[in-house]
Amino acid sequence: MPQAVTCARTARWPFGAVLVNVNSGELVARAANSVESGDATAHAEVNLLRAAATRGLRMPEHAVVSTAEPCPMCAGALLWAGVRAVAFGTSNARLTALGLPQINMPFTSIARHSSLGPPPAVAGGVRTDLTDPLYEEMARRYR
Ligand SMILES: [Zn+2]
Repeated sequence: MPQAVTCARTARWPFGAVLVNVNSGELVARAANSVESGDATAHAEVNLLRAAATRGLRMPEHAVVSTAEPCPMCAGALLWAGVRAVAFGTSNARLTALGLPQINMPFTSIARHSSLGPPPAVAGGVRTDLTDPLYEEMARRYR
């Protein structure tokens, strides 16, 4: 999570994600939100999947660690990719409570509706001591 937070801090909208090989524990890719480029789908998780795809990485061998709970778009992309596990810091509910625009639907709800194969392991609220400050700061700027 500290690596994902470092990545998030490089972005205008502080969302970051890293990809970890579940066998070796090696961090193999990182990405940040880049929607200011004009691509509304350029969330950290989608950017991460794109980076992984260009390198031919197999998602069932990888876990995604994201600073915030994947939105429904990213959740769908992660499920379609067949990622093994997802860990996230700040929840969508918390982002919504902070007044940040969000599609407030839990990742687990979306995963429950998937028939794409084994659902990823999910851990939420990971290191929110590191991730919540990103969004508290963002909320102050957004107001
Ligand atoms: Zn997203």
